[in-house]
Amino acid sequence: MAVPPIGARVRVPVGTRTLTGCVVQHDALIEDGTDAKDIVEAVDREALLPPSIVDLCRWVAEYYVAGIGDALAVAMPPGARGRANAFKKQRVVRATAHGLEMVRLKPDPTTTEVHPTVTEKQRAALEILAAAPEGIASTELRDRGVTAGVLTGLAKRGLVSIHSERDERDPFERAAMADVTPGVSRELTEEQRLAADELFALADAREFRVALLHGVTGSGKTEIYLRLADRICRAGRQVLLMVPEIALTPSIAALFRGTFGNRVAIQHSALSDGERHDQWHRIRRGEIDVVVGTRSAVFAPLDRLGLVIVDEEHDGSYKQEETPRYHGRDVAILRASRAGALVVLGSATPSMESYQNASAGKYVRITLEKRVLDRPLASVRLVDMRTEYADEGPDVVISRDLAAAIGDRLARREQVLVLLNRRGYSTAVFCRQCGDTFECPNCSVSLTVHRVRGGLPRPFDKLRVAPSNVEGRASEASRAGWRARCHYCNYSVIVPKVCRKCAAPYLEHAGFGTERIEEQLNERFPDARIGRVDRDSVRRKGALTQLLTKFASGELDILVGTQMIAKGHDFPGITLVGVISADVGLGLADFRASERTFQLLTQVAGRAGRGELAGEAIVQTLYPEHYSIQLACRQDYPAFFEREVVYRRGMRYPPFLALINGVVRGRTFDEAMQHAREIVRRLEPATAAGTFTILGPAPAPLGRLRGEHRVQFFLKGSRRADMRHALMEVVAGMPEIRRRLTIDVDPLSVL
Ligand code: ADP
Ligand code: ZN
Repeated sequence: MAVPPIGARVRVPVGTRTLTGCVVQHDALIEDGTDAKDIVEAVDREALLPPSIVDLCRWVAEYYVAGIGDALAVAMPPGARGRANAFKKQRVVRATAHGLEMVRLKPDPTTTEVHPTVTEKQRAALEILAAAPEGIASTELRDRGVTAGVLTGLAKRGLVSIHSERDERDPFERAAMADVTPGVSRELTEEQRLAADELFALADAREFRVALLHGVTGSGKTEIYLRLADRICRAGRQVLLMVPEIALTPSIAALFRGTFGNRVAIQHSALSDGERHDQWHRIRRGEIDVVVGTRSAVFAPLDRLGLVIVDEEHDGSYKQEETPRYHGRDVAILRASRAGALVVLGSATPSMESYQNASAGKYVRITLEKRVLDRPLASVRLVDMRTEYADEGPDVVISRDLAAAIGDRLARREQVLVLLNRRGYSTAVFCRQCGDTFECPNCSVSLTVHRVRGGLPRPFDKLRVAPSNVEGRASEASRAGWRARCHYCNYSVIVPKVCRKCAAPYLEHAGFGTERIEEQLNERFPDARIGRVDRDSVRRKGALTQLLTKFASGELDILVGTQMIAKGHDFPGITLVGVISADVGLGLADFRASERTFQLLTQVAGRAGRGELAGEAIVQTLYPEHYSIQLACRQDYPAFFEREVVYRRGMRYPPFLALINGVVRGRTFDEAMQHAREIVRRLEPATAAGTFTILGPAPAPLGRLRGEHRVQFFLKGSRRADMRHALMEVVAGMPEIRRRLTIDVDPLSVL
């Protein structure tokens, strides 16, 4: 048998089984300690993954202390993926092109009897379905732990209907095509032209460079990307454009599609595995000049890469919060350095890391200080909610100023964006008589309360009165239409009308989320057409695009939402942005809290006044003096950076030092703590060289998650390699504990 090349899939024996793997090296030990395997059979004669991508995966695995198999799994096209390691079994993917299987609760169950035989798993599935009257795709149910077997069981009992729906062809694509405004013909402003010229020069040098394009919101960065991409393609090289989430920035994809036609591959989550598979192979065959995609597109098999653009480079969604915990932007930079390509990081609010690198001369900084066509930035007004509470009582959600301003805009037929970065109806429910609260049995958080539209369907009622049911009064509750859900593990229960413990009818909501804002706006402005964008409202495939399209076409007057509405949108009709609680993120014990707050407020304020009419933002806060709020109001990034950098340097936080976070999970707190202590004890000798220190172990802020206790520690130092090597060496000696340890290099959020 000829030696299969690096990047080819092969069948290899593992224990008593034969599994599919990917060749990463010849005649050597694989770095994660696994022995090289004898090959039983070659799956591919030629490399499926280009060697450069295999190389990139090896780097990712090493840098993020993950298995090479985990990294390869991200890079493989759908259908060819292995899972946990290089030799794990190939996942079988049904490539059903556009068919979508929808599962719904039956409004009229054929069997009207109570079902004492319904299993726990089936019951859980019914709960999920009860919250989604329009039905849920079977693929999504599977992601949420509902197996095909459970669904079949429910269908047999006549409780759910399963049917195939021919999905409209790629809803995103349609929206994207709707308003193609090919930009290349438009004349650049003077500032844009200067920036473009500087980038052209860098591109023409055909070597690795990183440029930070720091341009205020609405300064026309997209136009520059487009021209730069065009230039690279004309020179016979390829472009990778990374965006945080394509559905949230459809205009950028539309613009690229309009310019590059079918030479552009757009990779987004609304594509089926089949479509993604096809695209991947088109890229692999070299038929594509431009790939537009989210973080995993950084592994796209382009072999003439000349330019990587990372739009909104500060965005947290570039970081993958599961193994391998890579940062798309950072992997992009590494990839470009190997390909000799130019990287452009674009943002109005660059990450501290990138701006610091630019200040230190590692990156070229290019600045756009003005909006196009001399449009002014939105003027921002602060509303001190302490005064508001004093005057109007503690239940105020929408201040007098904001309400008046919204009324104004509605009267003038202008559009309004209202941000509250917290979803759900309320943040907690409690009994006023006995104090009972709804906490997650698996996680150390209280459950978020959601409204269930139109109450719950009937078969659900019947199930809840089964004697095995702990919440016996649930049939009563189901009409109340409240459901409390854990945002971490998805556990949920119906909120009854009376207290579960003392039966008092005094349940009260505390705190508020986007659903409550929507409700209040509906009450105050009954004629306004209001849409809501958060993870709950856009769960259904295509729902987000639909909402955004409606707003863009003027069919909605107000869009309420979480940070999803703050990102990169360009809706020229918005003249007012309201921020309900600007300080939602400030209370978190996280050194990035100020940075995130500044970014979010600056970005959302940047959505106003992008058309001909000037914009205004009204920001409600309890901390009007906080620097991140003050400076976001002035939209003064350099001042924010100067202020924040002092704190980071003083506290020895990134970008001045690197962090690695380790979380040890255990069945009990003591077990987790004991294991964490053992790891730390073994790491200690390596700190003697003085390049890093260890913090902890200590209970993680989220002390319990999905039923497991969590203890964390940090490595903090100037040389990541030292920290990584020490960690790898230690965990290699304790394989039992390794499985309970999550390592996060350059963590973005630590919970
Ligand atoms: P940014 O990404 O920097 O926030 P965009 O690229 O979305 O800004 O551009 C903001 C708006 O200005 C868009 O509607 C875009 O079409 C428009 N625009 C960009 N460049 C020009 C130009 N040179 N002349 C006129 N309009 C422009
Ligand atoms: Zn939970």
